Amino acid sequence: MSLEIAVIPCLRDNYAFLLHDRATGATAVVDTPEVGPINAALEARGWHLTHILNTHHHPDHVGGNRMLCDTHGCQIIGPASDAHRIPGLHEGVGEGDAVMLGQIQAVVWDTPAHTSGHISYYFAEASALFVGDTLFAVGCGRLFEGTALQMWSAMHRYRSLPDHTRVYCAHEYTASNIRFARSIDPSNEALARRAQEVEQLRAADQFTVPTTIAQEKATNPFMRADDPMLAAAVQRSGASPADVLGEIRRRKDRF
Ligand code: ZN
Ligand code: FE
Repeated sequence: MSLEIAVIPCLRDNYAFLLHDRATGATAVVDTPEVGPINAALEARGWHLTHILNTHHHPDHVGGNRMLCDTHGCQIIGPASDAHRIPGLHEGVGEGDAVMLGQIQAVVWDTPAHTSGHISYYFAEASALFVGDTLFAVGCGRLFEGTALQMWSAMHRYRSLPDHTRVYCAHEYTASNIRFARSIDPSNEALARRAQEVEQLRAADQFTVPTTIAQEKATNPFMRADDPMLAAAVQRSGASPADVLGEIRRRKDRF
């Protein structure tokens, strides 16, 4: 596999991701929170930016679009359904569309919930999934423009991917997500182990992203909203997974 991926910390707790196809030199950045760190990372590697892949319209994901495009002349790809909110968009994409980075293909999934036009990019061959602010390690995005049912649909679909799939989420929220998750899932041993790992990583100033589908299946309460134990923990026994997810999300918002 010739796809190289670099994690670029931006702003306070955002990540941008550089994707580089060694075979052709094609290089994408997934979201553009901040121009400086992205340009520095490109320069350090000698890579030339050819594509911007946006997940959704929030400023901490599209803020660098125009400036990066002016500097590098790259192609901006993003959600077609949110075209009016993606600065400089050249190519709108949606469910099932293929995006080519050199010789490497990503498939676009519509994953609305955090925003109405949110999309994810799945690189099957590279086993890499870019989820923007829909899924976080041990958490999920806030429901600003969508519903708990939409978020549950996204979680359910992500969960169907191979366990080893690496999941690139757009913020470093893992430690606080774990504190909340443990409050409703205190007997989850995988979660307890993960809390220790994440504490060590953060103490050493290391990223907790990417995560994997296997880790999220074991520890993420939003991905496990169909587990009767979790439904009971939030007093929603017998409710649909979407309702349980909605209740967990409300509690997280207040946590
Ligand atoms: Zn966002
Ligand atoms: Fe964000």
